[in-house]
Amino acid sequence: MGLVSWIVRNLFSRPMTNRFPKTPPVPVPEGFRGKLQYDPEKCIGCQLCVRVCPTQTIKFLPEEKKIAFWVGRCVFCSQCVEVCPTGALQMSKNFLLASDDMHDERYMGGPARRRGMER
Ligand code: SF4
Ligand code: SF4
Repeated sequence: MGLVSWIVRNLFSRPMTNRFPKTPPVPVPEGFRGKLQYDPEKCIGCQLCVRVCPTQTIKFLPEEKKIAFWVGRCVFCSQCVEVCPTGALQMSKNFLLASDDMHDERYMGGPARRRGMER
């Protein structure tokens, strides 16, 4: 196929990709690793997640015996989820994390805001 006919064909064909954000995002598959979810009620403060995290995303809060994290550091490896003995950590299907505000609430997990986790 010649270059011109290839260009013309592409000009009038439908896009191959989803038109997000004009349309809803496509469903993500099972096992997708989105934003980390934390349930403080299930957390026993064992700190295993803190030890395995390769990016120091998670910090232990000794007073509360809970954790806090800033998603801006997370590489979504899921190691903390795998090691957590109580299921307090899960990878959600939420991947809509773009923001021009590094203090955006969606980046915080646990009582991170008052601890200045992002610094
Ligand atoms: S998913 Fe990986 S990088 Fe993110 S907090 Fe857990 S261990 Fe750290
Ligand atoms: S591994 Fe689980 S139970 Fe232990 S501190 Fe982390 S979130 Fe809490």
